[in-house]
Amino acid sequence: MAVFEDILEKAKEITYTAGKKTGEIYEVSKLKWQVMQVNNEVKAIYEKLGSSVYGMVKADYENPDLVASIVKEIDILLEKLNIINEKIAKLQKINLCNQCGSKNPVDYAYCFKCGTKLQNDFPGDGEQEFAYETSADEETSE
Ligand SMILES: [Zn+2]
Repeated sequence: MAVFEDILEKAKEITYTAGKKTGEIYEVSKLKWQVMQVNNEVKAIYEKLGSSVYGMVKADYENPDLVASIVKEIDILLEKLNIINEKIAKLQKINLCNQCGSKNPVDYAYCFKCGTKLQNDFPGDGEQEFAYETSADEETSE
């Protein structure tokens, strides 16, 4: 629950501090919404995993393949979350540390938290790249 509230809080924060083009704010809000939805999916699959394991223990029956397939579903969603978060970071011109995941200002060369060298790989215009990325993401288009 705290995670969702945190995201909402951050989404608000962005709307206020961004001061950027409305298009960017809109894209970020949209991505934040996607993060929430994927988080909900992850939660649902965790429940499925839990009830599957519970059922197996109760029936004294093991199905490692089923467990593995559910775990894989979760991994796919977590990967999706990473991709969305990276898109958000790019739109906000935030440099995510590969090591610890800290959000660094784009002009920092090293992570303020762990000191890892940051990759400043932002293109001059992030919007075009973003548009390209989202067009490949059919699931989210409406
Ligand atoms: Zn770091």
